[in-house]
Amino acid sequence: MAQRKRIFIDMDDTLCQFRKRYAEKLKSHPEIAYPQSQYGFFADLEPIPGAVEAYKTLEKSYDVYILTAPSYLNPLCYTEKRVWVEKHLGLETTPNLIICQRKEFLMGDYLIDDHFYPFTGKMMLFGSPEFPNWEKVLEYLA
Ligand SMILES: [Mg+2]
Repeated sequence: MAQRKRIFIDMDDTLCQFRKRYAEKLKSHPEIAYPQSQYGFFADLEPIPGAVEAYKTLEKSYDVYILTAPSYLNPLCYTEKRVWVEKHLGLETTPNLIICQRKEFLMGDYLIDDHFYPFTGKMMLFGSPEFPNWEKVLEYLA
């Protein structure tokens, strides 16, 4: 059997709704300049529509990893990302969580991310006209 291809998937604004919560918090607590520094911010993010289902679908045919750059000024962020993965993708997915500031160091076939990184494989820019949502990502990788 051929080796399965490897996919890396970003968290903030690819799997989870970072910007939405950030905007809500700024509105409700304008005195807090960096809402992402608050306890519970990362753990409580809502999933992007279709993201959890897409992850589960991709896992059937690919080696899928979560690759997220932490908010390194907030040490809680590292733990809360792990909490989020268990909550939405299950305990069995937590070994596939990679928290790394330098995504370009990772070797793989696809990187699905809302930020562009110089990546050795195919960079799939989430939210771009080509990949505006998870439906389009799945179509491409089907
Ligand atoms: Mg992101």
